[in-house]
Amino acid sequence: MFQVAEYIKASSKTVVFTGAGMSTESGIPDFRSRSGWWKQVDPRTVATIEALEQDYPLFHEFYSMRMRSLQKIKPHDGHNILAEWEKRGLVHLVATQNVDGLHQEAGSQHVEELHGSIKQLKCQQCEKEATTDEFLEGKPCSHCGGKLRTCVVLFGEALPQQAWKQSFETIKEADVVIVIGTSLEVYPAGELPFLSNGKTILINLEEVENDFDVTITGKAKETLQRINELLVIVE
Ligand code: NAD
Repeated sequence: MFQVAEYIKASSKTVVFTGAGMSTESGIPDFRSRSGWWKQVDPRTVATIEALEQDYPLFHEFYSMRMRSLQKIKPHDGHNILAEWEKRGLVHLVATQNVDGLHQEAGSQHVEELHGSIKQLKCQQCEKEATTDEFLEGKPCSHCGGKLRTCVVLFGEALPQQAWKQSFETIKEADVVIVIGTSLEVYPAGELPFLSNGKTILINLEEVENDFDVTITGKAKETLQRINELLVIVE
């Protein structure tokens, strides 16, 4: 961990790349580990354009359940530490696969949401913005009567261009990429960390089958807290 602190201090551009494991300590289940969503509902069957178009009640129920479960969730100290590192010039971008908005809530300013956001809503037909309340109440679009949806990227949809471009370009120039809480199984986002010529660091509870310069097996929050303490010691 001391080496990670040294890498961060020496880096002129550091990107943090996060996945669902970054948010489990805030109380949001991830997708693939034992307590994850996959065991109860397979998101591939509902987080799809087909479900939105052909089985809207199921789509609506799934996202209403996810949105309600996020309402009382707060960022944890790991999110706060990353926001603090950005203020100190130690982190330049957080590229996240998460849709929960917790990095921004913790104060990170430079965040790219590669899989969109569950906190933004729009009409599938005319793209007019909508509110969470309108969605939860089951209302149609106030402009055209179309179906409301979250701005989460559904299976089969392209990633938001701007988020992809910004993440791609920053990672390519990065001296250090810190990957936190992701199985890296979702394509194409999972390929991004390896576009860097810099040092790659993984912080994850389980093994991930990729080559990193440093692998730390552990929880996101306590690992970030420990690295944060070490940053004080590193010259
Ligand atoms: P994933 O579920 O495939 O993998 C999560 C990884 O995080 C696992 O390897 C797990 O061992 C690890 N992990 C769990 N808790 C951890 C902790 N406390 N500290 C460190 N590591 C921990 O998630 P993924 O790779 O992000 O891909 C799943 C997709 O699901 C993503 O596209 C994401 O958009 C979406 N998703 C988002 C959220 C969210 O926004 N919070 C939640 C679930 C799923």
